[in-house]
Amino acid sequence: MKVLFCSSEVVPFAKTGGLADVAGTLPPALAALDAEIKIVMPRYRSIDVKKFGLKKLNDDTWVGKLGKNIEVYFLEKNKYFDRDGLYQDKGVDYPDNLERFTYYCVRTLNLLKTIKFSPDIIHCHDWQSGLIPVFLKTLYKNDPFYKKVKTVFTIHNLGYQGLFPAEEFSLTGLEKEVFSVNGLEFYGKVNLLKGALLFSDRITTVSPTYAREIQTTEYGCGLEGVLRQRKTDITGILNGINYEEWNPGGNGALAKNYGPDSIEDKYVNKADLQKQCGLAVDAKTPLFGMITRLADQKGLDIFAAIIDDFARLPVQFVLLGTGEPRYHALFESVAKKYKNTSISLTFNAALAYKIYAGSDMFLMPSYYEPCGLGQLISLAFGTIPLVRRTGGLADTVVDYDPFTRKGNGFVFDRYESGALLETVKRSLCVYQDDKAWKKLAVTAMKSDFSWKKSAKQYLSLYKELMKK
Ligand code: ADP
Repeated sequence: MKVLFCSSEVVPFAKTGGLADVAGTLPPALAALDAEIKIVMPRYRSIDVKKFGLKKLNDDTWVGKLGKNIEVYFLEKNKYFDRDGLYQDKGVDYPDNLERFTYYCVRTLNLLKTIKFSPDIIHCHDWQSGLIPVFLKTLYKNDPFYKKVKTVFTIHNLGYQGLFPAEEFSLTGLEKEVFSVNGLEFYGKVNLLKGALLFSDRITTVSPTYAREIQTTEYGCGLEGVLRQRKTDITGILNGINYEEWNPGGNGALAKNYGPDSIEDKYVNKADLQKQCGLAVDAKTPLFGMITRLADQKGLDIFAAIIDDFARLPVQFVLLGTGEPRYHALFESVAKKYKNTSISLTFNAALAYKIYAGSDMFLMPSYYEPCGLGQLISLAFGTIPLVRRTGGLADTVVDYDPFTRKGNGFVFDRYESGALLETVKRSLCVYQDDKAWKKLAVTAMKSDFSWKKSAKQYLSLYKELMKK
């Protein structure tokens, strides 16, 4: 089976979020199941040709490798991609994003002829590649080269839709009729995600719960009607994580490696984290970690409402995150007020690793969460996630029951600061029982969210589609 992956970011080449992780780790898992995968993405300024050993295919295309055998094609166009950012500069979207990603979609389809790769499936991700399914059913529909291709479109976060002014529609090269209620028109604007949802053969998103939630007014971001219209074509498939990267057993970056059989050594990392963050070194004080984009989606408004009550509890708190200026201001003031908190308003992969290993609990009180990686990573480190029951969090974290001792984390339902605080207190009660807590940490470490199972689900979805 031949599959083309279209993603505007792919780990390790370029990343702004979870999309890059999926696009860089799912293809190797699919290739291990015998699918032939190729990937196409833009060649941004930050992608170092030498570092990644890229070779020139022609004047404006480079080719490199992901893993041993997955070819990645990089489309070069200085006018569009030779910039510091991927989509924006200093928090402001580039004004020519529609032109940039129309170019990416057209060039991707044309490249297939150049490299003589005739895929069975084109798997597109998020709005940046959303025009590909639209082009295949409109401008390219009579081209025999693409006749048999089926398209899958994955929503990684419905909150980002690729919205542009109506006047720019002509830049897509599509017929005027396509800018309609049954096409890309969305409240007077061009909506690339909507186009992808209407024109792709199948739609997936990154957890079963999120697949249901996005069909409701509360979580549908205005597209719930379109999604309900296509409900029989929508599947939720959980993201996996790469355990070679995320495990506490074999990485020199930790103060001490550990595993389910040596959980005591986790506390060496706790002490190391406390020291690095300027907190009192004390094994007994429960330490909450949080690593996140500072955005409303992540539950920061309900957290902000109880931050004083929280910080006055006998706990320590380590936050790593960047994002909205008002949350930077909030946490800067928290850091000044409370000695038991440590706030780092940067992006820092090495510190993130230490927080995952050294914390006792990991906070994710998200308003919505398509899948979430933080809770999966923290489970791998025996760090107990405390989450709201939404999206992928609902599908991966099971509330701990102190009587049956079943569960792998702490979960609350209502999106309210009171419910969050009550759950924090509930986790602190369990924390008092050292034996039960360590058992819980070991259970967490044994959870398996590797890509293998999800890759199989994608493969059977591709196969089903090819039969149609
Ligand atoms: P989203 O993709 O919505 O931001 P996820 O939980 O799916 O949220 O993935 C976020 C990933 O980015 C996690 O691996 C997390 O550890 C990492 N991350 C987020 N913020 C930072 C930061 N400031 N420094 C280092 N890593 C971060």
